[in-house]
Amino acid sequence: MKRKIIYFSIKAALKMAKDAIRGFTKKYKKESFGFLLGRLENRNFRILEVVPYKGGEKGRTTFEGNRERIVKRGRELAFKRKKGVLGYYHTHPEIAGEINFGISDADRESFLKEDVPLEFIVGIGHAEKKNYPFIKHNRDGSISLRFDGYFLKFSVYYKTRTRRVKRGRLILYI
Ligand SMILES: [Zn+2]
Repeated sequence: MKRKIIYFSIKAALKMAKDAIRGFTKKYKKESFGFLLGRLENRNFRILEVVPYKGGEKGRTTFEGNRERIVKRGRELAFKRKKGVLGYYHTHPEIAGEINFGISDADRESFLKEDVPLEFIVGIGHAEKKNYPFIKHNRDGSISLRFDGYFLKFSVYYKTRTRRVKRGRLILYI
């Protein structure tokens, strides 16, 4: 089966990577959380920009935010930047050598409750020192990035009409 394509600005990807690293390098490691801004184009989503969210309580494996405040902030951003709120991203930092790259059951549950079409997960850990920087589109639709000494994997999910959560295929563009 063909995967739904979601176009992803390379500039937005790097901004998201930097926000993920910012959380990861905090004491005890922290998740990062933010907004995906963009539009629907010929039935494909295009993520044009990402904006980190400064509020909420970020933990090593959790993000607790006031939903109303987050939705309000998203609407403000969308209005100011003349884009739609396509969804949210959050990170999964490496813990004891393990990175949970995909969507968790709790993530899936909260995504189904949100009134947005996309959910974005970024797994982050340390890269092996000898490896050089790279960026790669994976067969499962995710994107791997090695950057600044870190390894990151971006995965995007969307809801079907029958409210199932499926993985989309990310395609970077410049
Ligand atoms: Zn999660």
